[in-house]
Amino acid sequence: MLTATATAIPATAIPYSLGFAERLAKMAAKPKLDVQVCDHCNLRCAGCLHFAPLAEKRFLDVNEYERDLSRLAAVEGVEGYFGFVTLMGGEPLLHPRLAEIVHVTRKHLPQEIIAVCTNGLLLRRMDDDFWHALTDCDVRLLISPYPLQVDYDELAAFARKKGVRTALSKDITNTADGKEAFLRLALDPQGARDQTQSFLSCPFGGCYLQLARGAIWPCQVSAHHDSFARRFGYDMCDAPDDALPLASISSADDIETFRRRSHPMCRYCDNDALTVVPWERSKLAAIEWLSPR
Ligand code: SF4
Repeated sequence: MLTATATAIPATAIPYSLGFAERLAKMAAKPKLDVQVCDHCNLRCAGCLHFAPLAEKRFLDVNEYERDLSRLAAVEGVEGYFGFVTLMGGEPLLHPRLAEIVHVTRKHLPQEIIAVCTNGLLLRRMDDDFWHALTDCDVRLLISPYPLQVDYDELAAFARKKGVRTALSKDITNTADGKEAFLRLALDPQGARDQTQSFLSCPFGGCYLQLARGAIWPCQVSAHHDSFARRFGYDMCDAPDDALPLASISSADDIETFRRRSHPMCRYCDNDALTVVPWERSKLAAIEWLSPR
């Protein structure tokens, strides 16, 4: 179903499919943990995987976050369990208390590699508290380059001069002609897909866990699709099995078991219709997130 605001899928879209071997390799690696520091963003990417253009302005509550993180950190076997913890968005640099969030994260996850993942547009406006938090807590900066009039190498050099380990993200896949491109979701708001099949061909599920609202979620779609559903009036039902409440976790094995199985939300992902498309600004049209089939 397309909405009245739908626009055509770009003619340059190319199909994307995750091979079974690649899926297995992703699952064999340590899971990453994402924390969505704010839902909204200062850059509207069409088809944002975290639905930021559709999100209302919302900042992570620092007290709530510390409570959740301390609960997670107390779980047996969780120290060093996550390969990589990412403070992201939306755009995390919009959060007025980001420095505190960095400190809280490092305090409770002393072993993990931690990074702030940003589009970088606000970097030059960040205050000393932010830069000191990154250096004091050994937290890295991961800048995602977009096809804008921005010298990202120069921006990265600026951050390195502040003493912060900085890298340009390679997450933005290139299209065949070398243009920066986005992996685009293919949601089926009717929830008619086969749950297991969707999970097996999913590039995210179980690999990019999300910490949100007192629970671990298998992917950003399950954790953050509400902005999409609300905006376009879809009734994408949330099932209790989509999340693992922190209160129910007794050891890292529980997270490991959870991340290896499909979830009711997987019925909404038409992963055989994933595409890679050239980057563009969002027109806030549902088609940017919908399956073209
Ligand atoms: S809901 Fe399932 S299929 Fe969709 S992104 Fe999440 S894990 Fe993957």
